[in-house]
Amino acid sequence: MAFKNLGIIDPILKALANEGYTTPTPIQQQAIPLVLQGRDLLGCAQTGTGKTAAFAIPIIQHLAEKKQIRSGIKTLILTPTRELAIQIDESFAAYGKFTNIKHTVIFGGVSQLHQVNALKRGVDVLVATPGRLLDLINQRFVDLRQLEIFVLDEADRMLDMGFIHDVKKLIAIIPAKRQTLFFSATMPPEIQKLADSLLTKPAFVEVTPPSSTVDKIDQHLYYVNKGNKPELLLHLLQKKKIGSALVFTKTKHGADKVVKQLQKEHVKTAAIHGNKSQNARQNALSDFKNGKIQVLIATDIAARGIDIDELANVFNYDLPNIPETYVHRIGRTGRAGNSGIAISFCDEETVKELKDIEKLIGKKIPVVEDHPYPFKGTLSEKAGELARKKPKQGQRRRY
Ligand code: AMP
Repeated sequence: MAFKNLGIIDPILKALANEGYTTPTPIQQQAIPLVLQGRDLLGCAQTGTGKTAAFAIPIIQHLAEKKQIRSGIKTLILTPTRELAIQIDESFAAYGKFTNIKHTVIFGGVSQLHQVNALKRGVDVLVATPGRLLDLINQRFVDLRQLEIFVLDEADRMLDMGFIHDVKKLIAIIPAKRQTLFFSATMPPEIQKLADSLLTKPAFVEVTPPSSTVDKIDQHLYYVNKGNKPELLLHLLQKKKIGSALVFTKTKHGADKVVKQLQKEHVKTAAIHGNKSQNARQNALSDFKNGKIQVLIATDIAARGIDIDELANVFNYDLPNIPETYVHRIGRTGRAGNSGIAISFCDEETVKELKDIEKLIGKKIPVVEDHPYPFKGTLSEKAGELARKKPKQGQRRRY
């Protein structure tokens, strides 16, 4: 199957060839013809499957084929994070390079000036995070009355991040007559309900359920005491000649701590998390992408949707307590046929997390026993539970 068999027009085919894409991914094969026909779509797919191009390509084609002069925002893509918003906008730039479509991106945490100026110049495609979009609608810088296509991206994340009310407010504003494309990696009941309320006779496409994605990734587990995790990370980065790596920590504070520990040993490192300014996050990301830093430390929220081509190594420095998050994290490596390595540390407090992850992926993660910081003490599920029940500082335990 080639892109041209999907009925895609020449200027887009040329742009895809420029990007080095030869074959459409499964979600692209399924979704592109349906969206071109004008169907509503419910897509169950996570980042890494090529879902951005699956909606961006037919949208660009729809706009490029319009004969009359376009005016007003015709397409809105709503996405939960700034990073994801920027990447989607970059995808429109790449795939729409040889068309005349105009697109821009708006997100919070930065001055609105440049965003408002771009809006004033006129756009066909607006990529936005919910808060800033509502803000600019209230200030009358955004008018969605001409909207024809609405894309809701990562709907389950919107729910996780507490944006669902903003999303519902926006849905009440946009025209009822429109084409809607709805994407979510998982379908909890509240998201299913939202999809039912938004879509009209949708086509359904689903790709790579989590457990099959992770099978392609080389996974390793190291049991290690919490206090030895910095040394073990350093050992693996330096002695095992691991190149660039994305390292996940549970907290922002934890991320900063690891950065300091690695920098002390002259490993080029930076962190991205919610306490960093938008500029600092973008700089860290581009330094990582172009090889100026070896290690990027991230929390889940900040890393969501980050698109880094050919990422070889992912570390779960702290195991996540939501097992699906493990799948999301390690799914960032081993993309588009590349091989990937996922290394996880399990300490005395995260045995329960490990059990839940292994239950979800349906297999045991192979354990590496031979390393300089072997676990000492008791590793029991009970220890993990007790640790999680420890009251937070300033919080009193109730009896
Ligand atoms: P996404 O799931 O949209 O975040 O895309 C994941 C990655 O796959 C991005 O780096 C895209 O540039 C890349 N990609 C998307 N479609 C294709 C394709 N047909 N061939 C090769 N790479 C692709």
